[in-house]
Amino acid sequence: MKAVAVLPGKPNSVHLRDIPAPTLDTQPHPHVGRVPEGRGVLVQSLQVGVDATDREINEALYGNAPPGGDYLVIGHESFGQVLAVGSKVTEVRPGDYVSCTVRRPGKSIQDLIGRNDLTSEETYYERGINLCHGYMTQQFVDDAEFIVKVPQGLKHIGVLAEPASVCAKAIEQAYLAQSRLQVWNPRVAFVLGAGQIGLLATMMLRLRGLEVYTLATKPAPHLKAEIVNAYGSTYVSTEQTSMADLARKVGRPDVIFEATGNAEVCFRSMEVLAINGALIWTSITGGSHNVSLDGAKINLEWVLGNKLLVSSVNGNRRHFELGIQALSHGELTYPGVTQRILTHPVRGLDNYKQMMGLLEEKKALKVFVNIGD
Ligand code: BGC
Ligand code: ZN
Repeated sequence: MKAVAVLPGKPNSVHLRDIPAPTLDTQPHPHVGRVPEGRGVLVQSLQVGVDATDREINEALYGNAPPGGDYLVIGHESFGQVLAVGSKVTEVRPGDYVSCTVRRPGKSIQDLIGRNDLTSEETYYERGINLCHGYMTQQFVDDAEFIVKVPQGLKHIGVLAEPASVCAKAIEQAYLAQSRLQVWNPRVAFVLGAGQIGLLATMMLRLRGLEVYTLATKPAPHLKAEIVNAYGSTYVSTEQTSMADLARKVGRPDVIFEATGNAEVCFRSMEVLAINGALIWTSITGGSHNVSLDGAKINLEWVLGNKLLVSSVNGNRRHFELGIQALSHGELTYPGVTQRILTHPVRGLDNYKQMMGLLEEKKALKVFVNIGD
């Protein structure tokens, strides 16, 4: 069976390789835990999305092979169709469309209660990223526990289930944390960045009724601005209006969802958050980047304003379900908009070089591979 893999630690090592096809009884990651008897689900991969994490893995900045091996099958954004289920699986059936979560539990208490997205351990196990093989293969198997059903009517955007889970979790974390205020009715949100995460966060915050401004560098017109506006948000180019000017114009944001991948922006956004507001950080910033700020001023405003910073990574199966619900709600509210994110399909695993090349292109909003093609 074909798989796209890298040799972690070796830059630009992405390659196609042949790996054994799994069966229902295969143990996909024996170093992490066993799939209980009869609980396996065998999935035919239909589409796998790639993002900046895959680029960093191929640049050898991130990611590790499973112990005892030298390669890592990449791909953590899965979408497929169930081929077969074990005798104790009742949640899904052959033919169902599914996605699969990314993290596998370690041994901390959070891992043991199904919150591996909040593991207290330094080491985390993530399919396609760290210590576990990913989904960029023709078929894969995993524990039914980690398989999430995607409704038939959502199959055209099912490949966005994983990024949607990341957004749904981050927003939910902010709302949960803000229950500290007893009453919190956020009105204005700034979403920083208009990549897939920024756009899905824009949609989800709009669905919660917020007035949303989505900020990115490039002046409109372009596709990202069209999608933002179609979600009923306002696109703002930071080349034309700075974050601070926007805050002066429309009011300080009660929520900031940061998804630019730029450390400078992560910290600058602290300067504009409203009193009692929540700043959500989701960027994974590789390398190092110094930022200079008026720390005393920010500290004073944050303390006096009871402001909150929530950092969020990954999503567990409940967040996948929340993300999928939001995608469904989004389809009904803004029909046909979300699929416009899926700009760059690649035909088949054989074209993995084209796939990695597209990740470098600014215009490629979402790159994904159609495995069956
Ligand atoms: C993935 C998350 C993962 C994170 C850290 C992201 O690209 O979407 O599921 O937890 O990288 O490795
Ligand atoms: Zn990702």
